Amino acid sequence: MPTNGVEPPALSVNEQSEVLQTESTQATRIKKAFEKFPFIEGTFDASEEIGSLKKLSGTERKQKLWQIKTKLARQREAWAQCRITIEQEIEIDPQIRKDDLYSVLHTFAIPYGFTEPQIRIGEAFIDAFDAKRNQINDLRDQVPNDTELVKRLTGVTDPIQIVSVAVSPYAFVIRTDDATYGKIWEQQSTIIYPNYPRFAFAGETRDSESTPFVVINQDSMNTYQDDAFEGFVSHELEHEKEKIVQRILFKSDMDDYARISTELFYLFTNAEDRLEQERYLREYLRCHMDHALLAVRSEFFAIKSEKSLTGSSFNVFFLQDGGPYDYLFFLREWADKPENHQWQAICKKILVDEYTTIIKKAIDAFWSLQKVGYSAQEVIRVLVDAPVRRWPADARRIIEAKLYDYDDDAFLKAEVARFFEPTRQAFCRESSYLQ
Ligand SMILES: [Zn+2]
Repeated sequence: MPTNGVEPPALSVNEQSEVLQTESTQATRIKKAFEKFPFIEGTFDASEEIGSLKKLSGTERKQKLWQIKTKLARQREAWAQCRITIEQEIEIDPQIRKDDLYSVLHTFAIPYGFTEPQIRIGEAFIDAFDAKRNQINDLRDQVPNDTELVKRLTGVTDPIQIVSVAVSPYAFVIRTDDATYGKIWEQQSTIIYPNYPRFAFAGETRDSESTPFVVINQDSMNTYQDDAFEGFVSHELEHEKEKIVQRILFKSDMDDYARISTELFYLFTNAEDRLEQERYLREYLRCHMDHALLAVRSEFFAIKSEKSLTGSSFNVFFLQDGGPYDYLFFLREWADKPENHQWQAICKKILVDEYTTIIKKAIDAFWSLQKVGYSAQEVIRVLVDAPVRRWPADARRIIEAKLYDYDDDAFLKAEVARFFEPTRQAFCRESSYLQ
C-alpha cells in the first residue's frame, strides 16, 4: 500500500518470491493457530452482552449467559494465541516490520471479534516493542565496541571483562565474568541484598531512554548444565516483555502507587481514633501488597517461561529472608519496631498470611489451566491481562466454559473443584523442584 502518495520501489523477482515465502509461512502459522479455536461472529464485547441479559428471563437467560461465558473464554484463548503468534514472529525474525506485526493482530481481530480496547492494547504492545528494538539497534550501531557499549549501558567505569554482547529484540544480552557481573549489579541496584541473584538479572540505563539489558554471569553458568544459559536468557527476557505489558495495562496503578501510599500513611498517622487508624493501616498495607504482587507476577511468568530449568523456584516468594524476592521486607521490618507493637498483628495478617494465600491460590490457578491442556506459555498469555488476585476466578471461568455443559450445575461445580484440588500437591512438587 503506497503511503503519502509515494509508490514503493518495484521488487525484483527474487525479492518478490522472498516476500511471498515469508507471507505464506506466516499465513500457515496463523492458520494453524486458527484451527485451535472456532471463530466468533462479529465483535464480542462481554460487558455489552451482559447488559442485554436484563431483558431475558428463566431458561433463556441462563442459556444466553452460558453462551456469553463460552464466547468470552474462546475470545480469551484467541487473544492469548494472537499474542503468542506475534511473539513467535518476532522470535523468527527480530527485524520484522511493525506493519507486519499489526497485520497479525488484525488477522486475529476480525474472526474473534476483538473489541477496540483489546486491539489498542495489542497495538500498544507492538509500538512499545518496536520503539525498544529500534533504540537497541541504534545504540549497537553507534557503539560497535562491546566493552564501550557495556560501560555506556551500565555506567560502570572500572575495567571490565566481557564475554559477549548479543542484540535481542527486547534487550541487550551481556555475558560477563563473575567480577564484572558484581560491579554491574552494584551499579544498578539501589539496595544491596545479602544474597543477590548469582546468575542473571535484568537492568536498564539510568537515562530517560531506559535501554534494557540482561546480564549473565558466565562463571556461575559453568556450574550448571550446558543449556542453563538459554534458561536464564528466556527468564530475563520475559521480565522485559512483562515490563512492556505492565506499562500498558497497569500504568495508572503504578503511577499512583507512591502518591496513594503516602496519602494513606498520612491518614493513618493522623487518624482520630483507633478504628480509623486501623482502617487506613489496612489500606496502606494492601496498597503496598498490590504493588508487590506486580513484581510477583513478573517473576512468576519469568520462571514459567524458562526454556530450560535454571533452578528457580516459587519458594522465593515465601522465604522472608530480605532477599531480592522478598518484596515486602521493608514494611515488615517497619512493623517489627517496638513502637509499632500494636500494629504487628495486622501487618502479619496482611503482609504474610494474606499475601502468601493470594500467591498460593494464583499458583494453583496456573496449574489448573495447565491441567486442562494449556502449555505454560499459553497460560501466561491467557492470564496476562489480569492481576494475580484475579487468576483463580478467571481460571475457574475458563475451565468451566471449556469443559462442561451449561445445564448441569452440580456436576459442573464438582468437576471444576476436582481440577483445583490436587493442584496443591502439584504446587508442592513444583515449588520444591531443584531447591
Ligand atoms: Zn527473575
